Amino acid sequence: MLYENWLQTGAVNAQNTPDCPPLAGHIKTECLVVGGGVTGLHAALRLVLAGKQVTLLEKTICGGSSSGQSGGFLTPESEEDFLKLIRRYGKERAKLIYRAPSEGVRLIVDTIQTYGFQCDMRTQDSLYFSNKRSHIDAVEEEAEAREENTLPFQLLNKAQLQQVHPGKGYLVALRYPGSYGINSFAYCQELKRLLLTKGAAIFEHSEVHTQKGNTARTNGGSVSAEHMLICMDKMKTEFNRELSKKFYHIQTYLTVSEPLTPEQMRALFPSGELMCWDTPWDYIHYRPVAGNRIIIGGSSPWTAYLPYHKRSSSVISSFVNKLKRAFPAIKDTEFNQYWSGMIDVTKDLVPIVDYDKDTKSIQYAMGCAGLNWAAFCGDYIARRVIDPTQTEDLSAFLGAHRKFWVSHSLQSILGKRISFFINHVYELLRR
Ligand SMILES: Cc1cc2nc3c(=O)[nH]c(=O)nc-3n(C[C@H](O)[C@H](O)[C@H](O)COP(=O)(O)OP(=O)(O)OC[C@H]3O[C@@H](n4cnc5c(N)ncnc54)[C@H](O)[C@@H]3O)c2cc1C
Repeated sequence: MLYENWLQTGAVNAQNTPDCPPLAGHIKTECLVVGGGVTGLHAALRLVLAGKQVTLLEKTICGGSSSGQSGGFLTPESEEDFLKLIRRYGKERAKLIYRAPSEGVRLIVDTIQTYGFQCDMRTQDSLYFSNKRSHIDAVEEEAEAREENTLPFQLLNKAQLQQVHPGKGYLVALRYPGSYGINSFAYCQELKRLLLTKGAAIFEHSEVHTQKGNTARTNGGSVSAEHMLICMDKMKTEFNRELSKKFYHIQTYLTVSEPLTPEQMRALFPSGELMCWDTPWDYIHYRPVAGNRIIIGGSSPWTAYLPYHKRSSSVISSFVNKLKRAFPAIKDTEFNQYWSGMIDVTKDLVPIVDYDKDTKSIQYAMGCAGLNWAAFCGDYIARRVIDPTQTEDLSAFLGAHRKFWVSHSLQSILGKRISFFINHVYELLRR
């Protein structure tokens, strides 16, 4: 398989993506956004729509990091089922944590519809299925949790499941609405285009290497701002030693098929497209995308915490083979391209959104794992600039000073990689 991001190459070719020049010289602005992923772009959008003067600095190109590498699976669950959220956070916090990414989904979908973005948005119900007897309980318990909390769903038995997704050995499934597929790289390009037409100044290839007070410096110049919103990923220690300790990353893989024939597509989805999640490893997921292709995403514990990009197709090939065994109709379909990316995460997998410890004119929104969280958090920090009195206070569970099971002092002994791994295992077991 070729190491190439199909979503990006396709979108770049199709859309003649506008390139923004690097920053040169010194400028003053009302609001500076650092980072042009979905978090920064949504922060900038909320601000320009409120009439603010906005400058955005991006290290590479907008959507050039996680946001443009993503598979574009857009679900309110933030890739976690509702029951897991209840087990981890208790009922009340789970509802709040469910609400934030749900709002993120709404924001993305509304933006696409309002401005007519071309980014392959597809309404795709989620299908959370089991192909192992031992996991039937997991599906049924999730159904109960959703029922208790009045979230819409449909529980499908084997015969019903075979009518919508007839995989060999697939036993039971939960189907629920409210999820969408997008080409996230194309989405970022559309947001960039919109921001430019609304008057935002965007400088790409402009890495902020230092930030002192309300001034950020790049190799080509500097920006002083009344408000600074920092939405960057992979923060370097030199940039902010204390804050950088709070983020690591999880490596995940994607591949896309060559175009399927209409018969093959019907063999997978006889009654319409779905976004599928495999319960034992619900990080394996797949859905149809543009050009009658299937995109498959997944991660492995052996590569997830590696500090470097592991360019090996073996992780994703095993998922492809699994899908081919379940659907012999695609046994000869080629998957020629795969890519990996690193998702910034915190130790408890919930983003950190906070004010700078010395001034409320600087805010951070980082570790937003999921496009939904990214859109919500970017919008949230921008709303706090526009009118803090009208913005809900979520500092109790998004604040930078919340406690983690593996403390910062233990992290300094164990190292970042092991500490994050242990804390994530703890979070999984709490579920
Ligand atoms: C392979 C892969 C698949 C994924 N699939 C999905 C999915 O299907 N569904 C889903 O919801 N989520 C998915 N995700 C996760 C999701 O893409 C991210 O969580 C989300 O996009 C994070 O957005 P962000 O804006 O916070 O970060 P990023 O998109 O990482 O944006 C941060 C930006 O800051 C810039 N930057 C960094 N340092 C500096 C600096 N010093 N100066 C200026 N700019 C800087 C970076 O270049 C980058 O563009 C996936 C991620 C990956 C990697």
